[in-house]
Amino acid sequence: MAGTAHPSYAALCERIAELADLSAIGGLLFWDRSTMMPAGGSDTRAHACAALERVSHQKRTHPEVGRLLAELEPWAAELDPDCDEARTVRVVRRDFEKARRVPEDLAADIARADSLGEDAWMKARSANDFNLFRDALSHHLDLRHRYVACFDDFEHPYDVLLDDFEQDLRLSELRPLFSELQAALVPLVASAASAGTARRNVLAGTFPAGDQRAAVLEVVKQLGFDDEHWRLDPSAHPFAVAQGPQDVRVTTMYDESDLSVSLYSVLHEFGHGLYEAGVAPAYSRTALGGLVSLGLHESQSRMWENVIGRSRPFSGWLLSVLQKRFPEQLGAVDADTFFRGVNDVEPSLIRIFADETTYNLHVLLRTDLESRLFEGQLTVDELPAAFDDGMHSLLGVEVPDAAHGVLQDIHWGAGLIGYFPTYTLGNLMAAQFFAQAERDLPGLQEDLARGDVGRIRQWLRENIHAHGRKYSSRELLRRVTGEELRVDPLIGYLRDKLTAATLLPAG
Ligand code: ZN
Repeated sequence: MAGTAHPSYAALCERIAELADLSAIGGLLFWDRSTMMPAGGSDTRAHACAALERVSHQKRTHPEVGRLLAELEPWAAELDPDCDEARTVRVVRRDFEKARRVPEDLAADIARADSLGEDAWMKARSANDFNLFRDALSHHLDLRHRYVACFDDFEHPYDVLLDDFEQDLRLSELRPLFSELQAALVPLVASAASAGTARRNVLAGTFPAGDQRAAVLEVVKQLGFDDEHWRLDPSAHPFAVAQGPQDVRVTTMYDESDLSVSLYSVLHEFGHGLYEAGVAPAYSRTALGGLVSLGLHESQSRMWENVIGRSRPFSGWLLSVLQKRFPEQLGAVDADTFFRGVNDVEPSLIRIFADETTYNLHVLLRTDLESRLFEGQLTVDELPAAFDDGMHSLLGVEVPDAAHGVLQDIHWGAGLIGYFPTYTLGNLMAAQFFAQAERDLPGLQEDLARGDVGRIRQWLRENIHAHGRKYSSRELLRRVTGEELRVDPLIGYLRDKLTAATLLPAG
């Protein structure tokens, strides 16, 4: 039931709409910085980002927001707790309480450091020299400690950082979940890696970037990308950003010797974009239109990249599309070989290129390192060696240098500490959501074999995307699947797929 209008509710919504607009401007600055901006623009851009953050922070924490909330809360308490108005008041209260604890100067310092840190990381990675990045990382950690000190209601300091990416997630919950996952994955990777014979990358060859772009566009246009509302541009690190449901921008990178890089990263970013495009139009520029949780977002990208994208039925369709575009390179590949090739398990150095099975081990390592770094159990100077040791013990891989090790990801450069675990949460949720979709949509595999994603896209929109930020990721998982976050569905799904691909011994 929609609540009866309260005169102050419209005033609150107006303030929130303005904040949503500022956040859209921030998204545009980020998109431009990563696709168009000449490298020399970074100093000016850092100031622009800090100024934008300062204005947003003033608006988020304006005393009038507090006054309106205090006035609206008794009214909202009488409404159906699940109606949009009641949810909006709760979400705005939560954001307000978080934001007003952080002094404006600190918020602006963090925004500037994030921008400059990314720059330092980029230089360090191209020079392959961790020393060029260590001061920026120390500075990020100092600022995060100052940030955490603004709060008092937490179990572990790292929980404050986690909460910015995944609401209410705690380290005490994450650690047992991740140890259970590690205990299941390590032997699975070992038996799959030892079962492999004559492995080769079926998508290796010569693929000109222009042809790759045409091919991946052909694929995603079949899935729901349209020129009226979407863009695809090249960037050093693929990402997706939306200016509301009508303007969705995804990026990718092209490796001319390996089609899999652009293909699967575009499927991944398409999943993020589809989520943004599917949020109920009525939630545009409202408190319920924003980002609910990175884990939930990642469940959507990983579903399109892997759960759908690397499934046997969809792989068959995908191969048929690619063969038309690349007859010389792919004409001789059969569907079973393709399916097997794109699911092959091989411990490797780079997280974003890791196969689906080993991928989470990369995330578990980073989560462990950054939480220890933050706790002070590990120093910044010890980080590169700890990273290399972790790669060796978890994946059996030797790291040759910093660029292929500790410096490979942008996150620590951009100050994103507490972000990595959401990738694995996304993988866990994707397996749980997809299992439910299969129960709800008989014949789904046959659809996918024809490249027909109409029903699954609709299912995702109705059950997940449309709700925007109305429900937390936990609530949504419970509503859709009746379950809490679990390790078993992901492990069961991987085991079944690897067995079907003859990458695991049957039985
Ligand atoms: Zn993603």
